[in-house]
Amino acid sequence: MKDIISVKDIDIAGKSVFIRCDFNVPMDDFLNITDDRRIISALPTIKYCLDQGCKIVLASHLGRPKNGFEEKYSLKPVAKRLSFVLHQDVIFANDVIGIDAKEKVKNLKQGEILLLENLRFEKGETKNDEALAKALSEYAEVYVNDAFGVCHRAHSSVEAITKFYDEDSKSAGFLLQKEIDFAEKLIKKPARPFVAVVGGSKVSGKLQALTNLLPRVDKLVIGGGMAFTFLKALGENIGNSLLEEDLIDEALAILKKGKELGVKIYLPVDVVAAQTFSPDSAVKFVTAQEIPAGWMGLDIGPATTRLFKLAIADAQTIWWNGPMGVFEMDKFSKGSIKMSHYIAESHATTVVGGGDTADVAKRAGDDEEMTFISTGGGASLELIEGKELPGVKPLRKKDYE
Ligand code: AMP
Repeated sequence: MKDIISVKDIDIAGKSVFIRCDFNVPMDDFLNITDDRRIISALPTIKYCLDQGCKIVLASHLGRPKNGFEEKYSLKPVAKRLSFVLHQDVIFANDVIGIDAKEKVKNLKQGEILLLENLRFEKGETKNDEALAKALSEYAEVYVNDAFGVCHRAHSSVEAITKFYDEDSKSAGFLLQKEIDFAEKLIKKPARPFVAVVGGSKVSGKLQALTNLLPRVDKLVIGGGMAFTFLKALGENIGNSLLEEDLIDEALAILKKGKELGVKIYLPVDVVAAQTFSPDSAVKFVTAQEIPAGWMGLDIGPATTRLFKLAIADAQTIWWNGPMGVFEMDKFSKGSIKMSHYIAESHATTVVGGGDTADVAKRAGDDEEMTFISTGGGASLELIEGKELPGVKPLRKKDYE
């Protein structure tokens, strides 16, 4: 495996630097930023570049605008928040490669920061357009990618742009480096016992990750909607619970393979069931063998949370991806919240992946206790699946094997 070029490996002192960040932050209806974790995570690289006396051009996407500029996708509130947390002015460009941005880049001085408007206001961004990439590359002598959340996408500011920089002038930022280090350590040399706790809605979304992880873990704990396809595969009646019928055979194959490999696989033994997918429906606590017809399991039950607690008790490494139930509704959030507490309280190295799972940890008040919370859901899953990310590949050292 080739090593990643770090921002510390290249000479950036006094140079102009383009940093691709992931400022795709959630906002409320009034365009207030509701969670600035992604902005805070970008600070180490930005501060390092400031200390090196660089001129800094920051770029990011926000949401999925379809047709150019839309107020609700503007990065203006991000410039404000960034300026607040850095205690320094952040100049904002009203376009990406338009007159305003070009003028402001030209006038940028060392120690100053410019944030471009949302990259996706340019149609070429998601098409990996070379002309856009070239225009962006003309803004700076050095390219730094710190946008882990989009590294699984071949987009102009992530992939195409790297072609305009040689090995001495492109690198990964500290956040990207950290994300990759954690994922690679997990895959290659986890401290044992290594327990993967997976949940969320579907087996299909995590099948590849489960397949790649199975030979590497000691235990696999399965909760959430995806558990029901496994329970069905074992012959249980799951009522109206979430089921991917076409994946029953795959689920059975995973259980069988787990047995062959000596991996202990844990499934829910009881569930919180309801007749409708609604916060005010009546609920029942039933064993996994007794889900009544017409009812569906929407959270793991109290016996399961105790079982899962025991299963992770001796873990040295825990990878957690996916909520244990429909955590968005209070009634069905207890299983996920409790699992979050147990994982946070453990003495293991705890790596949390996926936006929903990070939300659960935050709601449970456990986010500070986790060893590492990944900032990118899709990208972190693809790393665990063993894939090379298009945004990371061009940043690997060529002479390092
Ligand atoms: P994913 O994006 O696959 O990680 O799935 C996250 C979603 O799974 C969340 O929105 C949860 O509400 C949902 N989920 C978790 N458990 C269940 C369940 N038992 N039934 C239906 N949906 C679930």
